[in-house]
Amino acid sequence: GAMRHLPYFCRGEVVKGFGRGSKELGIPTANFSEQVVESFPSDISTGIYYGWACVGNGDVHKMVLSIGWNPFYKNIKKSVETHIIHTFKEDFYGEILSIVITGYIRPEKNFDSLDALISAIQEDIEEAKRQLDLPEHLELKEDNFFHLPEGKTVNNH
Ligand code: ADP
Ligand code: MG
Repeated sequence: GAMRHLPYFCRGEVVKGFGRGSKELGIPTANFSEQVVESFPSDISTGIYYGWACVGNGDVHKMVLSIGWNPFYKNIKKSVETHIIHTFKEDFYGEILSIVITGYIRPEKNFDSLDALISAIQEDIEEAKRQLDLPEHLELKEDNFFHLPEGKTVNNH
């Protein structure tokens, strides 16, 4: 369920999330719309993944991504949220986010405290940074998917 679909390429608009305060924790997550989430393979595992991300025609950055259960839909639908490992000057709601998911870190977990949650995410980020420097993941940073203009994506993506 987790690795079988990787690498997974996806592009879509950044929408408002559930205001769970990710930004206040210092870990903003750019949410994809329900339609984009619906286009994911239905059997892809929930959990924490990593890969590459690019906003509009901007630079390609490392990212960690969570595929989780969407509280708005009583946890019957998934949500997909990308934390880009980069400091942006401004929010980018409404812009097109392009991602390639290249690897899987762990399943979803519940945490006893906010501190435990934050340190788990920080470990996920460090793990993502290390993994993405390996040649098999690094090569996807240069994929044409990130550099072709809208509407001109290559056939197999
Ligand atoms: P929401 O609940 O609306 O998703 P968040 O607190 O998760 O709110 O913040 C997400 C928003 O923060 C994104 O939609 C984006 O506009 C902005 N943002 C700024 N920096 C980043 C980043 N490094 N990664 C992801 N989103 C970011
Ligand atoms: Mg969010």
